[in-house]
Amino acid sequence: MHELPVINSILKVVLKHAADNKVKKVVAVHLQVGELSDLEDKWMQQYFDYLAKGGIAEGARLKIERTPVVMKCTDCGFSYVANLKEDKKLACPSCGSERKNMVSGREYFIKNLEAI
Ligand SMILES: [Zn+2]
Repeated sequence: MHELPVINSILKVVLKHAADNKVKKVVAVHLQVGELSDLEDKWMQQYFDYLAKGGIAEGARLKIERTPVVMKCTDCGFSYVANLKEDKKLACPSCGSERKNMVSGREYFIKNLEAI
């Protein structure tokens, strides 16, 4: 159920943007979602359909793009894309340190709207 408040806030932004630009109908919403986010595509679309009903964004498709997880090494400051499937330790490719902070990976934002 955690998708619901997220979709609610996304829809608010979509509707405000649509109103500002005087669009008649929103056909698609391009979202970028961090690879580590636990938001699931099918639930996002279902909640969106439910919440957007009766409005100008009704029936709009969510086009969800996963963005890579980026880490920053706390020892040498090197930033790198973490390959979660192949490297469990996610060691720094520059100095080999395993101490790092996540720069991005759980965030979501609206990249673009398709409207008519
Ligand atoms: Zn490093």
